[in-house]
Amino acid sequence: MGNKGFYKRKRTLSWRYIKGGEYWYKNRVRRTERLRIIDNGEKIKRGGCCQICGYNQDLRALTWHHKDRTIKEYGVSRLVGLGKISKYKKEIIKCVLICANCHIILNHEFEDNKRNAQ
Ligand SMILES: [Zn+2]
Repeated sequence: MGNKGFYKRKRTLSWRYIKGGEYWYKNRVRRTERLRIIDNGEKIKRGGCCQICGYNQDLRALTWHHKDRTIKEYGVSRLVGLGKISKYKKEIIKCVLICANCHIILNHEFEDNKRNAQ
């Protein structure tokens, strides 16, 4: 191999990238953990139960559903995963708290209505 210089340079670059990535990743994990706690608090504030069927056994099974899809900017669970606290707070104002079960049924009904309308 005649281009050792190329591989050397590539390694230094990727090492820097990994170091930066690690810092970014740790920071993100910390923010996500903090936001998970905030998220549970918000769910309790909203009554801690599904607004449709009243399920209240496990906060983890309660999800944020956008009442109006046209104003949806981000999926809330995605924002929690990314640790985006300010965006999260803006997004949940548009949502109602429902359980995963009702969420799936609502989404299917939405898709069915959309198909029937076509
Ligand atoms: Zn429900």
